[in-house]
Amino acid sequence: MRFSVLASGSSGNAIYIENDEHAFLVDAGLSGRKMEQLFSSIGKSVANLDGILVTHEHSDHIKGLGILARKYKVPIYANEKTWIAMDGLVGAIPTEQRFQFDMEAVKSFGGLDIESFGVSHDAADPMFYVFHENGRKLSLITDTGYVSDRMKGIIQASDAYVFESNHDISMLQMGRYPWSVKRRILSDVGHVSNEDAAVAMSEVMAEKPTSIYLSHLSKDNNMKELARMSVEQTLQTKGIIVGEYTHLFDTDAEIPTPLVTV
Ligand SMILES: [Zn+2]
Ligand SMILES: [Zn+2]
Repeated sequence: MRFSVLASGSSGNAIYIENDEHAFLVDAGLSGRKMEQLFSSIGKSVANLDGILVTHEHSDHIKGLGILARKYKVPIYANEKTWIAMDGLVGAIPTEQRFQFDMEAVKSFGGLDIESFGVSHDAADPMFYVFHENGRKLSLITDTGYVSDRMKGIIQASDAYVFESNHDISMLQMGRYPWSVKRRILSDVGHVSNEDAAVAMSEVMAEKPTSIYLSHLSKDNNMKELARMSVEQTLQTKGIIVGEYTHLFDTDAEIPTPLVTV
């Protein structure tokens, strides 16, 4: 399978995944127009999607969802509580395009298995996805306050990760956000810091080539170089040397990562 992180961060998230037969999008968190531009910049079209999988109803994950659904008649997948929470936010989505994807379920599309799992985040029933094909595994995990043992079990030994590395704790603490927002981000239902992400990575990676895409970076409380450096340093304290098995990649709020094979 192949994937591209089309956009990642608090201003909008979307991840494209395809194999030879099927194509999916996880979240459509930018405007419809912007989503179309992102697709065309990787040489793909929204019209060819088999579905959009929704993680949770925060606007940075669903901003373009209703528009794309109506314009391209794409099937939309979400769990029941997320559907209820989304309903007032995305406009009307025709019944024949509404599909339920339960928490901790697997849906198969030919040889591509998509597995859902719950995360700890302040949304109705947030969940992320693991894609399996031919023994290869791609795990997506952002928007979680911490990475539980249960989540670690599900995402372990993936070949590629789109992993949240949201903030640098001292930048967040010293920054301009009101205390209530800082407390929310740092809480168990907020976002994972660079260091916490790296500790969780060190516990799930197998000794094989692993690509990690550092994702959902805060615009105000993180920087690509800093995220990379703290993840690299924390991994090193766990005995993992970046460049051996492990490779770190940046994602961007507006520029898609190249479509790569997992
Ligand atoms: Zn969120
Ligand atoms: Zn988010």
